Amino acid sequence: MLPDLERLIRLQSLRNAADDARRCLAKIPAQLDAFDANLAEHRKALDDARQRFEDNQTARRNLEKQVAAVQSRLDNKKDQLMNVKTNEDYLVIQKEITAAQDNVQSSEERILQSMLDGDALDGAVKNSEHSLVAAEADIESDRCEIEKERMKFEAAAKKASDAAEVLTREIEGVALALFEQIAEKRNGVAVVEAKNNLCSSCHVRLRPQVFNDIRRNNKLIQCESCGRILHFLTSGNLTLADSA
Ligand SMILES: [Zn+2]
Repeated sequence: MLPDLERLIRLQSLRNAADDARRCLAKIPAQLDAFDANLAEHRKALDDARQRFEDNQTARRNLEKQVAAVQSRLDNKKDQLMNVKTNEDYLVIQKEITAAQDNVQSSEERILQSMLDGDALDGAVKNSEHSLVAAEADIESDRCEIEKERMKFEAAAKKASDAAEVLTREIEGVALALFEQIAEKRNGVAVVEAKNNLCSSCHVRLRPQVFNDIRRNNKLIQCESCGRILHFLTSGNLTLADSA
């Protein structure tokens, strides 16, 4: 194999490895944002549950005050009832007492219902608290995993970039310039395999004579369609995957 073709294949492989690692690194901020969003949802659910419980307690205290006020008026009416002079006054006060008693009874029923609701809302608060604690623990462990991945990808990107840098110094100037020029235009991919008479990147069919020349791997041949440098993989030669 042409030595520079072999080096360009390795260079492509190292660039691919560095790009892959950088792509993985680029996904990390969105993963961390998703954790924050997940925690924010749990915290909001807890805040809402606490608010509903507080509202229930406030409403119950208000009902209890109302009942106390009505009860106090009821006691006054009962005192007045002892001192009425006329039958007519007696009936009026008796009617007021009945109305107040009905009021107290219905308020007490509402207080009872409010207490039952309060128990359920208190349970919901506790559930939300447990969910938040569990989510915090899960996310903390996921964050540690991601931090390890980050270090791994950073190291992989640096290792591949450094090796690529060293390798470029061994490649003849014209060949390297051609590689960089194609890589610039083709999203970093300058060297690809020719396979089954096709360019494996743009899938254009190669002329038989061109494919035969590529099979020899003894010169730099570009795809007539996408311009990438083509090489032919034999079991004996270096593969892109092996050199990654
Ligand atoms: Zn092509």
